[in-house]
Amino acid sequence: SVRVRFAPSPTGMFHVGGARSALFNWAVAKQTGGTFVLRIEDTDASRNKPEWVDGILAAHAALGMHADDPTFEGPYFQSANVDKHREALARLLESGSAYYCDCTRDDVAARTGNPHSGYDAYCRDRGLTEAPGRALRFRTPDTGETRVVDLIRGNPVFPNDAMEDFVVARGDGSPVFLLANVVDDLDEGITHVIRGEEHLSNTPKQQLLWEALGAEPPVWAHLPVIVNEKRQKLSKRRDKVALEDYLAEGYLPAAMVNYLMLLGWAPGNDEEILPFDEMIERFRIEDVNSAASFFDLKKLAAFNGEYIRALSVDEFVAAVGPWLRAPHAPWAEEQFDPAAFAAVAPLAQSRVALLSDITDNVDFLFLDRPVEDERSWKKAMKPGAVELLTDVRTTLSTLEPWEAEPLKNAVATAGEWHGLKLGKAQAPLRVAVTGRTIGLPLFESLEVLGRERTLGRIDAALA
Ligand code: GLU
Repeated sequence: SVRVRFAPSPTGMFHVGGARSALFNWAVAKQTGGTFVLRIEDTDASRNKPEWVDGILAAHAALGMHADDPTFEGPYFQSANVDKHREALARLLESGSAYYCDCTRDDVAARTGNPHSGYDAYCRDRGLTEAPGRALRFRTPDTGETRVVDLIRGNPVFPNDAMEDFVVARGDGSPVFLLANVVDDLDEGITHVIRGEEHLSNTPKQQLLWEALGAEPPVWAHLPVIVNEKRQKLSKRRDKVALEDYLAEGYLPAAMVNYLMLLGWAPGNDEEILPFDEMIERFRIEDVNSAASFFDLKKLAAFNGEYIRALSVDEFVAAVGPWLRAPHAPWAEEQFDPAAFAAVAPLAQSRVALLSDITDNVDFLFLDRPVEDERSWKKAMKPGAVELLTDVRTTLSTLEPWEAEPLKNAVATAGEWHGLKLGKAQAPLRVAVTGRTIGLPLFESLEVLGRERTLGRIDAALA
């Protein structure tokens, strides 16, 4: 049966590209009734941290790949398999597929006259035995070609004479990543290696290792690189790449899953927003595009808005909960009023793109005074605004009933006296009451805020 794996190295925050790889592997495992193996490639002790392992596990759970799901196996740790790696090295040595080498880079350069040349196979037949400082190299074929079965990139062919005799164990005897990665895949019975394009150049070497270890190589699939709006490969120095940061900013996990599934794959029929289960059904690894996938933040935000709107109001209220508490909303402990929030929650749900947008959208309801934002103030308080606001105050002071529709009509009428359409006429009122130039639908907001507080804020603005 199909066994796939996701094999992250815990050397940093969990990358959205890693999340995409994990999801594609998960989809293949689920749709084939196979198994998804999570393997933490933690052999580079100097670059690993336990919190990054925790981050990987938490991210899987957040995206719906739960460790208690029968499809999920692991996590395994590469560092726990070192005996097997060494055993494989011994077998390669014994069968003549590997040999000891004591050449330095300078030795090779001196012989070839080219400091950048690959290894010249000098030690191939010297019959060196194990000794400190001697690396172990794999004997690559001199002729022929290595053809790998790649479900996304056709079946690329690599001429063997272009492949140097590469190192499989360092001078201190430690196995290199390339070897450990193959031995673990073999050991875990992996049938399909689905991973990032950056590993494609390793693939012929790794396939030769599979063969030399007497095993049938897996089927490969190399996923397209993910790029930003400048068509640069997404990088943690330049771009926001940590899944955790997206979740912390108020992207819903379901929206992230949906968006990540579309990085290189499309369900067809111009459909984009689909439940995870349905995407898993329809996903075909063969249909993944080999061209770079654009990580489009605007599109992601739009997806997130759609997912927010698909929540029930109760789910929405629960989801925004953290943004209505400290530290996002320091005022909340004293001043949050669930009833007032419930009254505006549906309005907010209809317009926020990120859950985190909620804080600025509703704080006017809870703060004693609206936030002070000089730019908004300047923008809204054009010449004539004071006179307009004074007239608005007069009409609102006796308005009955205090409801959105009459409020709107009253402000529209006051605007007409000043030759302004409603859109312009409401700007000073909005900034007086909320402190901002954009926000929830104003008249519904005023209805919830109440007459007394609305008039008080207008007075404060006019003072
Ligand atoms: N640990 C490798 C990485 O994080 C993955 C290698 C693989 O998937 O084969 O890039």
